[in-house]
Amino acid sequence: MDINAYIVKTCTSFIDIPNKIATAIYFSGCSIRCKGCQNAILWERDLNTLKSITYVLSKIKDNKLADSVVFLGGEPTEQMSFLIELCKNISCYKALYTGREFEDLPKELIDNLNMIVCGPFKQNLFMKNRFPASTNQRYFKKEDGVWVLQNCQ
Ligand code: SF4
Repeated sequence: MDINAYIVKTCTSFIDIPNKIATAIYFSGCSIRCKGCQNAILWERDLNTLKSITYVLSKIKDNKLADSVVFLGGEPTEQMSFLIELCKNISCYKALYTGREFEDLPKELIDNLNMIVCGPFKQNLFMKNRFPASTNQRYFKKEDGVWVLQNCQ
């Protein structure tokens, strides 16, 4: 089924997944609204950029440089049905950046991801050169089918 979501941009990312080149999919809309958010321009959902799953899949397929896909925003999980359906249709390595906590994400979504960076950005917990940027944020990778919390530096 072809459904739509507000996607403002697709591009190539060299920095969002360690050691991979990704097609980055930027969703608009975020109700979390962290103080100090770097992407506050994407807080409003309707930026007149409605895109179909077919369109996004074609952008991923056309990107011959990338070996993976990363979902960013904005808050991708606020257009959950689209995100899950999109994930199910992508066979390569997939990563999600979300302001929500890992434990609050639906199983149907995490079953279809390989990497998750989660938690809201907190300006008072910001640490320069740390990944992710604030110390409350966590970074998980699926290793042999099991989600493993990574060491953050
Ligand atoms: S969750 Fe992400 S996009 Fe949303 S306000 Fe926080 S840092 Fe910005």
